[in-house]
Amino acid sequence: MAELLKGTSAADALTSELILRAEALKTNGLVPCLAILRVGNRADDLAYESGALKRCETVGIAVRQFILPADVSQNVLLQTIGEINRDAGIHGCLMFLPLPKHLDEKAACAALDPTKDIDGITPSSIAKLYSGSGIGFAPCTPQSCTELLNHFGITVSGKRVVVVGRSLVIGRPIALLLLTADGTVTICHSKTRDLQQITRTADIVIIAVGKAEAFGPEYFRPEQVVLDVGINWSEKKQKLVGDVDFDAVEPVVSAISPVPAGVGSLTAAVLCKHIIEAAENIGQQAG
Ligand code: NAP
Repeated sequence: MAELLKGTSAADALTSELILRAEALKTNGLVPCLAILRVGNRADDLAYESGALKRCETVGIAVRQFILPADVSQNVLLQTIGEINRDAGIHGCLMFLPLPKHLDEKAACAALDPTKDIDGITPSSIAKLYSGSGIGFAPCTPQSCTELLNHFGITVSGKRVVVVGRSLVIGRPIALLLLTADGTVTICHSKTRDLQQITRTADIVIIAVGKAEAFGPEYFRPEQVVLDVGINWSEKKQKLVGDVDFDAVEPVVSAISPVPAGVGSLTAAVLCKHIIEAAENIGQQAG
């Protein structure tokens, strides 16, 4: 039976640590604060927001919500971002993407102060992810993968890692974080030939594709660690499932993250970690 890499247990451990760090900040007169910037009422955004609000409350992070109508103008959006940037009481900002199509998303991301960009969307944060230096945080979902591996004591250094999926927001940042952790990383995508042979060479396989239960046991071999980043609604099962066919793959590999309660369960805790770090950075500058 494979070890179950539960994001919920990693999130609980991280939350306990963050509660103490939030208390230490408050002792020094600094209340960590997140700004949530949402345009419109997309169901995905609302679900993520609800999880973030709960986790922030548990950790002791204040939240200010900036909710703009779906037809907001670019000017008003940029003014709101400017307001968040200038407010010294706000330490991190979560701006939900994608923005509605009439807005210039690239300009909006670039307008956010990178020291408050706790989900890795500004050019500065992306440059930091690539170069390893500068200002910014990694995006939360990719970082949840590395946090999950760390929590379960799975080292990446020297290991052969295969990441399936190369999106700018998930697959590529995951690959870069694992490269930074000294993994030997291969990135695969929809045009990759002989994918099954490649995934079977890995010590750690990370699947971030968005195809319900598309990865069966033929993609894996014993002694592998598998992280399933996919979150898909299965009409057949009427529940959330990953990209990996969990029931068929779990008996084959040595460790696997479930869906739900896997990588996705850790994202809000990683978000809180970034807010606390951003607030600690401000505290250190002031001290
Ligand atoms: P995306 O932008 O659609 O990218 C999917 C990637 O998978 C692309 O690189 C695509 O290749 C590749 N791909 C598609 N079919 C493939 C196949 N048959 N074999 C190999 N590669 C294939 O999706 P995304 O935004 O990265 O999201 C990926 C998954 O993560 C989704 O299920 C999403 O719901 C989930 N997600 C999870 C969390 C979380 O917290 N756990 C957060 C956000 C998203 P090409 O580049 O060649 O098209």
